[in-house]
Amino acid sequence: MTATHSTRMLILGSGPAGLSAAIYGARAGLAPIVVQGIQPGGQLTTTTDVENYPGFRDVIQGPWLMEEMQAQAEHVGTRMMYDMIVSVDLSQRPFRLVGDSGTIYSADTLVVATGAQARWLGLESETRLRGQGVSACATCDGFFFRGKKVAVIGGGNTAVEEALYLTNHSHDVTLIHRRDSLRAEKILQERLLAHPNIKILWNKAVDSFVGGEGTQGLIALDLRDTRTGEVSRIPVDGGFVAIGHEPATELFRGHLDLDADGYINVRPGTTYTNVAGVFACGDVMDKHYRQAVTAAGTGCMAALDAERFLAEADFESTSEGHRTAARAVATV
Ligand SMILES: Cc1cc2nc3c(=O)[nH]c(=O)nc-3n(C[C@H](O)[C@H](O)[C@H](O)COP(=O)(O)OP(=O)(O)OC[C@H]3O[C@@H](n4cnc5c(N)ncnc54)[C@H](O)[C@@H]3O)c2cc1C
Repeated sequence: MTATHSTRMLILGSGPAGLSAAIYGARAGLAPIVVQGIQPGGQLTTTTDVENYPGFRDVIQGPWLMEEMQAQAEHVGTRMMYDMIVSVDLSQRPFRLVGDSGTIYSADTLVVATGAQARWLGLESETRLRGQGVSACATCDGFFFRGKKVAVIGGGNTAVEEALYLTNHSHDVTLIHRRDSLRAEKILQERLLAHPNIKILWNKAVDSFVGGEGTQGLIALDLRDTRTGEVSRIPVDGGFVAIGHEPATELFRGHLDLDADGYINVRPGTTYTNVAGVFACGDVMDKHYRQAVTAAGTGCMAALDAERFLAEADFESTSEGHRTAARAVATV
């Protein structure tokens, strides 16, 4: 038999955004349900050292942080579901969503916190050395490469921003781009080209990330010239793949207003989407900051927005009830 769960607040995603929304929603008495998706705990479960989440002087581990967030969310009254939403109907409230398990979720409000995934080059050596010198986040990992040689792969805004950011830590930053011109905005290009600590290798694609002996991690990049096919090796300690992100919004295409890159559009300064009662938070609506703490921050906002939305909706229906009762009395 198909199970149906009804809730005041349904949260899709169990990363920092979803779990922060859950903590606030539960403490507001909304008994939220979190559908965890195929990556319980979200992106931070794929990393080791986290040094920039406030409240911890010592280095903490990403998976541990997410376990703590989940435990806190459950402790205050959140119900976790190991399921993945595969279809949504947002045309009327309560919203109706269906999980991969066949379970139906009926929700007065919906918080979308499905995150985004970094795009990778797809090389075997890249996967093998991820977290051992290969990264997709300079803000997260740049600090670990203080005074070392780093390379950024890409030619758009993200790549240029990552290269400029890395100059805070390294005097030897190389941008590697497969073409002979950048796609990034002109102002960013000007800053990049004027920077004394950044050099650019044009018409080069990464053939392979080269690891050292034992646990040494990344030591070099093998680059292929995209015009001549010639392969050369450059020594590096860190390689940052910056070829964009993919927000997890396929499910919402045609249901929610998305921008040209597929991120959910929210009303500025809030987490309100174009559908009343649906809120979005974390990396799925933020292509600029993409940090655990910003995801947690907007997760908090989404829960507060949803709670206020419900309070207003309840007030409206109670008032309408009173008005109807008053009309009935008046006509008797
Ligand atoms: C390797 C790595 C290292 C990082 N290091 C740091 C760091 O040191 N510091 C820092 O601040 N940030 C770091 N980040 C970035 C940080 O992890 C993200 O900014 C943050 O996790 C975004 O949180 P989120 O909740 O928006 O989304 P995510 O963490 O991406 O979580 C998305 C959630 O949505 C779920 N989901 C997706 N689709 C569905 C669906 N259809 N139904 C139900 N659930 C669904 C997934 O299962 C997942 O639980 C790192 C990221 C990576 C990849």
